[in-house]
Amino acid sequence: MLFSAKHSCTLFYILTLSLLALYTTLRHRPILPPPPLRVAQTLPTIAIHSSPPLATTPSPPTCANSPSTHLAGTLSPLSTALYVQSHFQSLGLTTHLTNFSVLLSYPLHSSLSARFSDGSVLPVALSEPTVPQNGVVAPYHAYSPSGSAYGEAVFLNYGREQDYHALGAQGVVVKGCVGIVRRGSGMSRYEVVANAAAHGVSAVLMYTEGEYKEGVERGTVMNGLGDPLTPGWAGIGGGEKLDLNDPRVTEKFPAVPSLPVSEAAAESIIRSLEGRGVPYEWRESFNIGGRRIRRVGPGPTMLNFTYEEIFEEVVSLSCPQLLVIKEDKGPIVLTVTVLREDVRNFIQHGEQKMTTIHNVFAVIKGSEEPDRSVLLGNHRDAWTFGAVDPNSGTAALLDIARRLALLMRLGWNPRRTIILCSWDAEEFGMIGSTEWVEQNLVNLGSKAVAYLNVDCAAQGPGFFVSATPQLDDLLVEVTKQVKDPESENLYLYERWAAANKGVNKIQRLSRVDSDFAPFLQHAGVPSVDLYFGSDFPVYHTAFDSYDWMVNFGDPSFQRHVTVAGIWGLIALHLADDPILPFNYLSYATELQKLRVDQNVDESTVLRRRMLNDQLMLTERGFLDSEGLRGRQWFKHLIYGPRGITESKIAFFPGIAEAMSGRMNVEEREAMIRHEMWRVARAIQRAAIALRGELR
Ligand SMILES: [Zn+2]
Repeated sequence: MLFSAKHSCTLFYILTLSLLALYTTLRHRPILPPPPLRVAQTLPTIAIHSSPPLATTPSPPTCANSPSTHLAGTLSPLSTALYVQSHFQSLGLTTHLTNFSVLLSYPLHSSLSARFSDGSVLPVALSEPTVPQNGVVAPYHAYSPSGSAYGEAVFLNYGREQDYHALGAQGVVVKGCVGIVRRGSGMSRYEVVANAAAHGVSAVLMYTEGEYKEGVERGTVMNGLGDPLTPGWAGIGGGEKLDLNDPRVTEKFPAVPSLPVSEAAAESIIRSLEGRGVPYEWRESFNIGGRRIRRVGPGPTMLNFTYEEIFEEVVSLSCPQLLVIKEDKGPIVLTVTVLREDVRNFIQHGEQKMTTIHNVFAVIKGSEEPDRSVLLGNHRDAWTFGAVDPNSGTAALLDIARRLALLMRLGWNPRRTIILCSWDAEEFGMIGSTEWVEQNLVNLGSKAVAYLNVDCAAQGPGFFVSATPQLDDLLVEVTKQVKDPESENLYLYERWAAANKGVNKIQRLSRVDSDFAPFLQHAGVPSVDLYFGSDFPVYHTAFDSYDWMVNFGDPSFQRHVTVAGIWGLIALHLADDPILPFNYLSYATELQKLRVDQNVDESTVLRRRMLNDQLMLTERGFLDSEGLRGRQWFKHLIYGPRGITESKIAFFPGIAEAMSGRMNVEEREAMIRHEMWRVARAIQRAAIALRGELR
């Protein structure tokens, strides 16, 4: 028996690599060259290319979307929901809203002061002074517990396990301290704070290095996706909710409070530290403002930290009136208006911190296979003004709606259904999309062809795309058909390949940082995520404004146009090609034959349908009903978050975690064996789904 005797970890690594190689081979290298791609009717392609670009429209949706803030659960996102819906309606598209009642989190009060070694006590700025604060929520970490802490300041580098080891080796004791952490290790905010709590740190300040030293990066510290009160099922008003004190809820939040601070604020504290020297391993990367930092504390600077979380204040702060949406049969009617006092009553008498979020959809019914759907999604809520994140993506989505409506006026209809999705509350943990995926899990599992996500469409130069591998060929083809936004004469493919030394650098989707995560990692729907630029310096700060977009992000709006072009073309192929343009090895020959077959009789139609189902369902084979260990909601065994590990493996999250988990050798070997068997079974399931026969 393969695993009956004693085996070293080396063997498991080798086996893992073999599995990886097998998987990569299966998914990447067709026996035959991939068949040529073509849209069933040529009309849509032509029209997509020749429709007026977004930048020339008199009022780009980015302008319309950005001047106000769009924090989920407050009044403003409701108005953006209605804006998006009325845009769809004005184009004659069928549209609807789907609302969920979910637990969101807002700041009531936060303060931070530093007591320096000379006895002086100074407040540390927690806001962003150079930006008009009108309607911008104070920087905070959503779902951070309320709490106060008074303790010595200590610098924790990225807050990784290896950083605590390095500090320990210097003799630094972090217990009871207020820790300062810089972002950038790839760990989620939750992982950073949870790790700090595990080491006895009593509160965490987090900052991001970059050009905007006074910008503060907001974000969620929830572990996992979706409404924390409805794990695995949709948060429908009146439906089952876990109690706020239920361990399944509280375990999603860190045990200690945290706040984001600006780099400038962090610097003022770090520079005052004495105590132990900076561990050798950090020295290369650790200097602030060009000057090397020499000491990490703890102390002598003492920090007095307070954070209080509540729902009520934010509503009264940016929402003096509560709007109620009434979905009558006719157009949406906005009624009225509950005054501030009533808002308080509503909250006191309603469920604490519960609020309504709004997903907006436009549906273009397929003419031949209306029960098969291609979904395009982007979130609509933002921490602040959100010109980049997410309004650049929303602008592209609205422009695709306009282009598709144009095609429909010319008599076109997609073969399969196209659904445009505008999600709410993504910033809190992909809540709008996750609740919807949970609500529609069975239909998505049996009928969704693919999910195409765009979050921040235009953050700067350079094209980036991530996808599940069966979509690689389609992506490459499409980039050969769309002009590069930076040059007149080049196609995107040429510049993209040149930037990556001739390789089409398509990343995979193990991340959990946008709305593709529930579709792929919970429902097994093949997915894509695309954007221009990376790591934009105003991420989640009050500087993510229209001004930044026109000055830096995408001054000519051509990147917006290109994203809309690629996104729309991928969707058209998936919605219109008679055979789905998925590249799976064993179907290359069969598909090739059917693709060129022009005599479409009834048996061909049924055969195509059968093959398409096999292609569509193969990805579902990688799901495992048990899910990842300790994170059962994540069902995909190939792509998913790694958990709190130092592993660099971006595939097979279960194996990666088993390899680096904290346990003894025997336990680890047993765990790795089990995880490898699970992956092997998942690959077998996918292969059987692709074969399509009961055996
Ligand atoms: Zn976003």
